[in-house]
Amino acid sequence: MGPRIQEGRKKGKALGAAVRAQLGAIRSLARDLNAESRPIRGSGATDADGAHFAGQRDEIRPAAQAVVEATLSAPYPKVSDDAAQRFNALADQAPLHYVAGLWRPEDAGQHFITIGGGHAVLQRSATPQGVWVALLADFLINPQRDRLRRCPVCGRWFVDATRNRSARRCSRKCTIVWSNAQRDQKAQTPIRRKREGRR
Ligand SMILES: [Zn+2]
Repeated sequence: MGPRIQEGRKKGKALGAAVRAQLGAIRSLARDLNAESRPIRGSGATDADGAHFAGQRDEIRPAAQAVVEATLSAPYPKVSDDAAQRFNALADQAPLHYVAGLWRPEDAGQHFITIGGGHAVLQRSATPQGVWVALLADFLINPQRDRLRRCPVCGRWFVDATRNRSARRCSRKCTIVWSNAQRDQKAQTPIRRKREGRR
């Protein structure tokens, strides 16, 4: 009995770590979609590399956002025809290849698969579309992807980390703005009609 319980615990811990990693990946994508990504840090990466790369990414951002929106129209693991078409159109222009070895400054902004200690496996692309496609491919296969949302009040992308997936606005501030607007709408429409009806 003892070992089994421990096994279960380990499994639970591993699952928790996997979910955290999946949520982390979506948070990172949300920052990219919001154009809030920080300059890439790492040995040798300069601010200019980061800025240059961010600039390149900006041109593709609307197309990437459209892929995400189309993806969210169907729950994981389904990929809608619209999402597939948009993703494939981006991917067509974005040949990717794998590179392993020491990380170099010119790798700033490429998509890392990882290793650490100055070494990396990268998905490298000659075009800015390539890095977006790598990020979007990760998003498509992410079991937590349905937690990515766009705030209807301020338009920011955010991750719903609530247990029952109930978050609809990005912040308390936006929820207050939203509920005030709802209240004003409710308060205005019926009363005016009543008053108008009496006259
Ligand atoms: Zn918001």
